[in-house]
Amino acid sequence: MDKREFLKTSGAMFASSFLPKLTTAQTAGESRTNWAGNYTYSTKNLDSANTIADVKRTIHSHTHLKAFGARHSFNGIADSTEDQVSLKHFDQIELDAKSKTVTVGSGVTYGQLAPYIDARDKDARKFEAVYLMLKNPGIRPFVETGFGRLTPVAKLDQLRDNWWCSLSMQGENYLVDYYRSRAHFSTPLAMLYGNSKPEAVFLPQADRTAAGNEWKRLGQIPAAPTFLSEAAVSYLKAHATEPRAAEALALAVRSTRYGCGDAGTSQQSQAAFRLLHSRYPNSDWAKKTKYWY
Ligand SMILES: Cc1cc2nc3c(=O)[nH]c(=O)nc-3n(C[C@H](O)[C@H](O)[C@H](O)COP(=O)(O)OP(=O)(O)OC[C@H]3O[C@@H](n4cnc5c(N)ncnc54)[C@H](O)[C@@H]3O)c2cc1C
Repeated sequence: MDKREFLKTSGAMFASSFLPKLTTAQTAGESRTNWAGNYTYSTKNLDSANTIADVKRTIHSHTHLKAFGARHSFNGIADSTEDQVSLKHFDQIELDAKSKTVTVGSGVTYGQLAPYIDARDKDARKFEAVYLMLKNPGIRPFVETGFGRLTPVAKLDQLRDNWWCSLSMQGENYLVDYYRSRAHFSTPLAMLYGNSKPEAVFLPQADRTAAGNEWKRLGQIPAAPTFLSEAAVSYLKAHATEPRAAEALALAVRSTRYGCGDAGTSQQSQAAFRLLHSRYPNSDWAKKTKYWY
């Protein structure tokens, strides 16, 4: 008996004694096509493995074996003229936020992976946006007209024209008035609108309604220092190993010093300050941040 024959025979013995999951395609109920359904695998000899030990035994018990995972390949690369083993039960997904990598089991489909990453990354994505804004005081969620903010976007404006003020606390006409105050000195716009409300009458009603709704949503968020500090503290409390944590907290406190505050600003300034000093007391960022505002 040559080695191949031996392996085949002993493989069958292995299969019957050690692999209760080993079964034919029909009894396993596995689809015999690839994921897209454009390719039908030619063999009916299908094994199923739940553990690495199962995989090892299956390999030892066959001379010609092909593995398949999510069956995402569109061609016959995973096909076999003799035996196949399905690894679809290896469906673990591990996301390492620090190294920004995701490790998936061989059975994970794109359909499973996409919503997982989407959900897991939602907070991280928000933190990236908050960090970007904290570093760049010229970022604001509306388009300015007229002169606008002349200080470079990454620099603090000495007249405190940094980030944005609360759009919600000045009464019903505040949004329009705020916009007008920004547009007032623009010559073309002054000629166009005079002293009347700067409404974009040339736009279709649907666009004006959409813009109005966007303003209303902006009106629901607090002033930038409150909003950004609260978001940074909340994320970093749960992500202590974030390498930019101390910097982000120091920048949050800075925003409460140089931004336009509202009723909640002091509380958020203190929260960022406390987290910075309690968790990263020896960091340069903590040493540079001596007060809250
Ligand atoms: C919607 C969609 C989008 C795609 N987008 C891209 C793309 O952007 N870029 C790209 O390059 N490809 C893309 N592909 C192709 C697909 O990712 C590849 O064909 C890949 O091989 C699929 O992996 P699978 O595990 O599903 O492989 P299977 O189809 O199961 O097997 C493919 C090959 O890998 C081997 N194999 C599978 N699992 C293992 C394992 N655990 N150990 C050892 N060998 C194994 C099989 O024996 C076979 O040879 C896409 C496919 C789909 C369906």
